[in-house]
Amino acid sequence: MNNRQFLVGALISTLSSVSPLLVSAQVHEFDLANGIHVIVNPVPEAEDVGVETFHEVGFVDEPESMVQSSHLLEHLVCYAPGAGFEAKAAMEWLNKKGMANAETMPDSTHYDYASRAENLEKILEIEAARLKQTSFDPQMIECEAKRVYQETDFVENNPQAGMLKHAFMALSHAWKYKSKTALVRGGLDNMDPGKLLNFYQTTYRPRNLTIAITGKTTLDEVKPLIEKHFGDLSSNDPQSKPLDWSKVPANHTIGWDSQHRAVCVAWNPPKNKRDSVRLSLLSAVVMQKLANDPALKKKTEMVMCSNNMWMVGDLPLFVYAMAKPEQDLDEIEKLISETFEKELKASASSSVQMIKSFGFQYDFQRKQSTWPRMQQQAKMVQKMGRSEAMSLQLVLLQDALVRCSAHRLLGKDPDEMIKAIKETKKEDLVTLVNKTVSPKNQHVVHIVPQD
Ligand SMILES: [Zn+2]
Repeated sequence: MNNRQFLVGALISTLSSVSPLLVSAQVHEFDLANGIHVIVNPVPEAEDVGVETFHEVGFVDEPESMVQSSHLLEHLVCYAPGAGFEAKAAMEWLNKKGMANAETMPDSTHYDYASRAENLEKILEIEAARLKQTSFDPQMIECEAKRVYQETDFVENNPQAGMLKHAFMALSHAWKYKSKTALVRGGLDNMDPGKLLNFYQTTYRPRNLTIAITGKTTLDEVKPLIEKHFGDLSSNDPQSKPLDWSKVPANHTIGWDSQHRAVCVAWNPPKNKRDSVRLSLLSAVVMQKLANDPALKKKTEMVMCSNNMWMVGDLPLFVYAMAKPEQDLDEIEKLISETFEKELKASASSSVQMIKSFGFQYDFQRKQSTWPRMQQQAKMVQKMGRSEAMSLQLVLLQDALVRCSAHRLLGKDPDEMIKAIKETKKEDLVTLVNKTVSPKNQHVVHIVPQD
């Protein structure tokens, strides 16, 4: 889907203002027997609910020669029939009753629903039906592939956005399959429905799924509803193949059907989750410095590195840039890798307090959101031209999404991980950065027009 303007906020901005007066009880979290993780954040004063379903599947999971297939799946899932609706009708109903959207990311796909509280069960029924597809219609595939490619045209024409998501489709094909080309505008229209179905059925699994609900509901209401609609999903493990970084080429060039040129320098993710989290947070600190670097601004349209939304783990530690026309890609590669390395090392020595403060922010964030704070956030959204009702729904959705992301980052034992973040030592960070950012762990990919 497209047209998302608000649901992309980084955790850093969401968590910046912490007032002790607004701190309240923990949110409720529980797991279904089949592995689905559920987060419930009751906001009694709200009239609506925001529901996020967060599937841990994205571009890095795409099978060989199926570039954009996770994005196409997102469209097909949105328009799937079920819960008493014909194909496409559920999406229409959802948008009439509130808001519905979705977004595919490198390592996740999330579906967003906001509506009056009385529609909560119907939303859950629709989402559960979306997870039980047994076939995809070839005509629908052709139609949605076109729309997926239209979105490529849109980002192609907005170079300051850096084609970042499309670049990750190409990067994952370079890393996993050493592909020579990655078509971001071709090959899906006549895709074998069976291949897509297999990709969907092996990755859209309960163990890959987190559901977060924020708004006018209670744990007592949510628990039986989730059990009723999702409890019967088979708990078969997702068949994801983690990337073997020892087999990823040190240097690779991949062609794509875009006029833009880009480069990514990446380093193997650490084996342990705690180190991956620390690197994600540390590079989130570095990200701002890269964005303001004058030398980078001169040569590149856009620079981005790992952070707490594009986290190290399934993704490597990375720095990425899209070149301005006429600028030399080798020079940009040298510039981004040197600048990133320098800033990362400097931050490892100087920013340990900032990393620790993330621990306190995540502690705070695991508490229930208070209505005054949400109203305040909605007022800010309203200033961007949304209606009051829509702004409040967006805030509910954003709250649920941030909780899914935080769950992803913190893992199965969030208290333990938060404690580890708070106890980060400068020496640990310095050692971790030196160990990770070494030439033998490094993988450079150039992305260039295919001819
Ligand atoms: Zn889309």
